[in-house]
Amino acid sequence: MANSQNKSNSKPVIIAGAGPAGSVLALALAKQNIDVILLEMHDKLPIDLRASTFHPPSLEMLKELGVVEEMIEKGLVVDRYQYRDRKTGEVAEFDMSLISDETEFPFRLQLEQYELTYIIEERLKAYPNAQLLFNHKVKSFTQDDDGVVAIVETPEGEKQIEGSFLLGCDGASSNVRKAAEIVYGGFTYEEKFLVASTSFRFEDVFENLSYVNYVSDPDEWCVILRTDKQWRVLWPTDPNETDLDKYLTDEHIQGRLKHLYDKGDDYDIGHRTLYNVHQRVAETYYKGRVVLVGDACHINNPLGGMGMNGGLHDAFNLAEKLISIINNGEEYLPKFAQYDRQRKDLAVKFVQDHTIANKKLMESTDPDEQAKRQQMFMECANDPTKAKEFILERAMIKCVRDSLAVD
Ligand SMILES: Cc1cc2nc3c(=O)[nH]c(=O)nc-3n(C[C@H](O)[C@H](O)[C@H](O)COP(=O)(O)OP(=O)(O)OC[C@H]3O[C@@H](n4cnc5c(N)ncnc54)[C@H](O)[C@@H]3O)c2cc1C
Repeated sequence: MANSQNKSNSKPVIIAGAGPAGSVLALALAKQNIDVILLEMHDKLPIDLRASTFHPPSLEMLKELGVVEEMIEKGLVVDRYQYRDRKTGEVAEFDMSLISDETEFPFRLQLEQYELTYIIEERLKAYPNAQLLFNHKVKSFTQDDDGVVAIVETPEGEKQIEGSFLLGCDGASSNVRKAAEIVYGGFTYEEKFLVASTSFRFEDVFENLSYVNYVSDPDEWCVILRTDKQWRVLWPTDPNETDLDKYLTDEHIQGRLKHLYDKGDDYDIGHRTLYNVHQRVAETYYKGRVVLVGDACHINNPLGGMGMNGGLHDAFNLAEKLISIINNGEEYLPKFAQYDRQRKDLAVKFVQDHTIANKKLMESTDPDEQAKRQQMFMECANDPTKAKEFILERAMIKCVRDSLAVD
């Protein structure tokens, strides 16, 4: 715990939620000698199968944090991805080496998001100024000019923890956001997404299959991607279906996998989940000394793999500002207002627009529209200049650059 004489705020920064956003913030601040308390409601870090794609700007930031090498060792480097038309068999392939002059990481890293949080949990042990407390659920807070007090539920009863700032990294149902009375505007789709994983080797039966594939089909679109561990398939469901339990039955999932590829017998199914799909953005990303990060302030459908990546970009942006506030004595309100402008107004608009457009493109049931869409991808993939532009956008490189250009 050095430099405390230089700190304008000597109380610890309290972080609610040890998901990707909260974990990254905790390590980034701890490395700069800032005291942090990371509060996680569960008794260990959750292992749920959600984000599995890390885009190039996130990898660049995670390199600065010193964790990217271990992530690459554990993950799968994917340097091309495909848009496939199931009816015509056409494949538009985007080769990410086209952006090798723009980034040190011209690929998507396929790695389960919990691998990152587990790596950070280990790294935090080296910092006596960082505490990770499990079974600590933030319920609400109070704040004044001198700091914040988090009201926390623990197995030993309610605790009050004092801090300089409270960072709400507590996911889509954020208690911090609710206690701050910040409206979470947007909408929730009526349909849900079904995700199942299998160890079956799709690469052996689909010719030249890449590890990330968006597959269109007027009858049933899907996304097939490989994580570091298994293949994962994501399908839409019928928004009018009331019997949601049926989606998680063996019969239903076997049927869908066999429709994708009939291998003659049953698949082994690793996991299955039915997800709600939202498009929401908080009306503001901060209130006084309380700041929202990640899913707590924006959420989108998973097509394109932008949700967690956007949350990581928030976390790195905010960490830099907190370091200058705490270690260099800068005013916090102008910095948080800049965070709000850079991350909410610009970056989130990009992610919301792109993910909504991605979903519309995938789900059309009109064969003509599907054919036009595939044609657009084929033309773009076959023109190196257009393909590079397309990849820079989908890899979130452009939106990170644009957001940093905002004053
Ligand atoms: C099927 C699916 C696939 C996805 N794929 C991708 C992808 O490929 N790429 C991508 O970028 N994004 C993807 N996403 C989105 C991604 O999973 C989320 O955007 C990401 O997890 C958000 O990280 P976070 O740290 O903000 O919140 P979370 O990961 O939700 O973490 C919040 C943490 O806070 C804890 N917590 C909650 N409430 C409290 C409380 N009150 N007190 C203390 N702790 C609390 C939780 O236990 C959790 O550990 C996908 C999502 C889904 C559903």
